Amino acid sequence: MKPTFQEADLIQLTQDLVGIPSINPILSDDPDLRGEHRMAEFLGQRLQKAGFSVSLPGNIPGRPNVMAKMGLSRPSRRLIIEGHLDTQGIHGMIVPPFEGRIEGGRIYGRGACDMKGPMAAALVNLTPTRLQQYADAGVELVFIGAVGEETGNLGAIELASSGVGADEILVLEPTDLHIVHAHKGAFWFEVEIQGLAAHGSNPSKGLNAIKAMTPVIEAIEEQVSKSDCASKLLGRPTVNIGTIRGGSSVNIVPDRCVIQVDRRTTPGEQGSGILNSIRASLEVMVSRGIFKGFELRTIKEGVPFETGADTSLVRRLSAACEESGVKAVTEGAAWYSDAGPFSKTCREVAVFGPGSIAQAHTADEFIEIAELIKGAHIIDRFLDRLLHHE
Ligand SMILES: [Zn+2]
Repeated sequence: MKPTFQEADLIQLTQDLVGIPSINPILSDDPDLRGEHRMAEFLGQRLQKAGFSVSLPGNIPGRPNVMAKMGLSRPSRRLIIEGHLDTQGIHGMIVPPFEGRIEGGRIYGRGACDMKGPMAAALVNLTPTRLQQYADAGVELVFIGAVGEETGNLGAIELASSGVGADEILVLEPTDLHIVHAHKGAFWFEVEIQGLAAHGSNPSKGLNAIKAMTPVIEAIEEQVSKSDCASKLLGRPTVNIGTIRGGSSVNIVPDRCVIQVDRRTTPGEQGSGILNSIRASLEVMVSRGIFKGFELRTIKEGVPFETGADTSLVRRLSAACEESGVKAVTEGAAWYSDAGPFSKTCREVAVFGPGSIAQAHTADEFIEIAELIKGAHIIDRFLDRLLHHE
């Protein structure tokens, strides 16, 4: 079957997108490079030309998301294709970040694989002809470009909590063309321990909050090892103690210590349940006089998701891979993405795209052109199958 796009256009578009700086504003101070607004403007114009009606919703000044809809009044079905607009910073990069240089069958630059390449692979397939076919079939196709994925999925949370949802969502990320239909949640929280200050020469007069953190960390790890929420696709939940702060001087018994915890959850686990279980252990420690008191604070809760391998979204993606000569690989992932927030408002969720996650965020970020082309073919077949096969 004749592809919807020209390979040269796909390569050019990937280079064009790499050439538009969109560093997450938390990761750069340079006004010419930071922020997603340049990407939002470029995509908005392109999607409008393709026949979408485009809006730039967002709650944060200067950081618009892009939402392109067909505007069907009573669609029988709705599909969202979503990608994030922001990239990592460019500090320490050893290739020109915004040139889109082609060398050895690769396109180099910041965002080439995470995720301007995957985005280009989707965009070249959103043509006026295809939109007309979708309109005739009464199926609504929505394209979303979201801000702030790299630092906490800001745009996806904004849009999902304002009710943006669908029957199916395809979240673009570099997955090596694997179909990721489950990933863990990311629940981040803080534990503060209150001890009792005393002079360092007389430690028995105080309660050392740093020392008291040892049994607290053990209790947190025990909670993970006891969790019965293992999933066939995702394996067991994990925990990482990421930061610790405490103490003011070498000769003072510290009265306060705080840790930050990154808990990766599996379906069935909830932040509130995890905190309740830890709270019960810490209350026992307070009653034994190990420390005076404590506080548990949620930093953020990103939920896990799991879409069945037998859903029409996953089956259609698998068939599109096979049709394009790529072995269909379905799997779960330990990392987190915009699929988490959207899993609350979309019935079937998958993450997919050309490029390797190992190449994301690197000093010489690139995407293999051959894989970029395969990815665009698969998305082409995927969009076609929704109308003609399933
Ligand atoms: Zn990404």
